[in-house]
Amino acid sequence: MNIGLVGHVDHGKTTLVRALSGEWTDQHSEEMKRGISIRLGYADATLRKCPECEEPEAFTVEERCPEHDVETEVLRTVSFVDAPGHETLMATMLAGASLMDGAVLVIGANEPVPQPQTEEHLMALDIIGIENIVIAQNKVDLVDAEEAQRNYEEIQEFVEGTVAEDAPVVPVSAEQEINLDLVIDALQREIPTPERDPDVDPRMYVARSFDINRPGTTWEDLNGGVVGGSLVQGELSVDDDLEIRPGREVDEEGQTEWRSVETNVRSIQAGGEMVEDASPGGLLGVGTGLDPSLTKGDALAGQVAGHPDALPPVWNDFTMQVDLLERLVGAEEGEQVEDISTGEPLMLTVGTATTVGAVTSARSGECEVQLKRPVCAPEGAKIAINRRVGARWRLIGVGTLGA
Ligand code: GDP
Ligand code: MG
Repeated sequence: MNIGLVGHVDHGKTTLVRALSGEWTDQHSEEMKRGISIRLGYADATLRKCPECEEPEAFTVEERCPEHDVETEVLRTVSFVDAPGHETLMATMLAGASLMDGAVLVIGANEPVPQPQTEEHLMALDIIGIENIVIAQNKVDLVDAEEAQRNYEEIQEFVEGTVAEDAPVVPVSAEQEINLDLVIDALQREIPTPERDPDVDPRMYVARSFDINRPGTTWEDLNGGVVGGSLVQGELSVDDDLEIRPGREVDEEGQTEWRSVETNVRSIQAGGEMVEDASPGGLLGVGTGLDPSLTKGDALAGQVAGHPDALPPVWNDFTMQVDLLERLVGAEEGEQVEDISTGEPLMLTVGTATTVGAVTSARSGECEVQLKRPVCAPEGAKIAINRRVGARWRLIGVGTLGA
């Protein structure tokens, strides 16, 4: 399963992931290539429990309990998705949100609440409907008890009426590795591993795609194109037939259209290991039989992969039900969100896909958009709606695909 780390820049998301997993997600995101929906770091963490300690002290990520010198028991392995706080585009966060089963909202104890991205990210969790949330009140080593208490009260006031209203607030120092046991305890209680039906058709959101061949490789040694992303349902196995939608743009006699690509699964990499079968959670790399020129440079990022003829439809235009925010998130008081008007461009995030759409018809509570790039998505899919305000795209509301 995937747990997102969200919150304001420098509040300690990456440090907390490292403390829980022993890995630096920033390195993962460094190597990620261009494109706005893909700069997400992943790190796997195995949550454990000492059979001899009392709870919550029993919760740990250590393989041996330093206190009792016994081997600890594995509770489960989770994948942390580290959302980049410096990213101005909400789309990146939201693209990750479609892959998250729950979230840890990291809030620095040493700054007033909320900081702009704390608010933006909580709003995103709210509209995407991620309800399993743990709040990590981080950097408690930098404040005294009184300040920590005051900060705690600010947090409570801030989350009132939001999806995080009942989320536990865990005081922690990610850097000093203090109270990690309480964080694990809260994760175990608040973010259960979702029930998965292994018999439904597999559906993988593609977040990246690439060509892994070195320049100059001759055809005998060429590896097929690789797609990276996360399975959101079903199981995928080596040798399965694979369809990827919307696929590629084909230009024929001046007419362009999108055609899905079909291939098969040649290899699957999960958690750094080659596996035969994969189920939801974590990041997968799927080796295919595709011509690597089709997957090069994230060409298939934002697409959906699964068994042939078992994928959601592809939309070049659609109608969406619209719920607008009352005011711009993170803005000065009073910056109202105006109604959507016919002709305006919107940036829409659906699953891991981000596309620009021109509004062809706007009515109250509903609008029709013509997309620049088609998207593959089921009816009822949630859509993050962004509008250009000044120099950047700002989140203005959420849409639901279909009339
Ligand atoms: P991110 O932007 O939310 O991923 O934040 P980072 O994890 O990169 O942390 C930002 C800075 O805060 C780094 O210099 C960390 O060393 C520091 N930091 C993170 N957690 C703590 C903490 O619990 N206590 C203190 N004192 N510093 C911390
Ligand atoms: Mg970070």
